[in-house]
Amino acid sequence: MDEASRPFTIESFYCFVKEKKLMGAKCNNCGRTSLPPRPMCTNCRSMDLMWQELPKQGSLVTYTVIHVAPHRFSELTPYPVGIVELKENARLPGVIKGIDPEQLKIGMKLNIAFGQEPTTTEWPQWSRYHFEP
Ligand SMILES: [Zn+2]
Repeated sequence: MDEASRPFTIESFYCFVKEKKLMGAKCNNCGRTSLPPRPMCTNCRSMDLMWQELPKQGSLVTYTVIHVAPHRFSELTPYPVGIVELKENARLPGVIKGIDPEQLKIGMKLNIAFGQEPTTTEWPQWSRYHFEP
């Protein structure tokens, strides 16, 4: 499907992730970027939206260390998950790899790295991307 005509849904978000792109739904009316993308602007309810590629680096807003994980992640415990702000109002949840949880600091810069493993269609879908320093 033509990129620009993809519906503004989480499914489309993960299609873009497969292509190693982070895309949010930018509102042409108020300029707010919705992540996860929704068919209607979360700020002004406009449906006049366009896809906007988001930076692959952001700052850590909050994090927690998971000790008891859902079954499919149990081998990974303990592991940190965090929320990274890519730009104003565009925040992405995900697993943080490549750093000792004790070294994590709110506000630190993290990069988004892309993996290959397919998982479910639920939000968030941890294993197709993760954060790393
Ligand atoms: Zn809007």
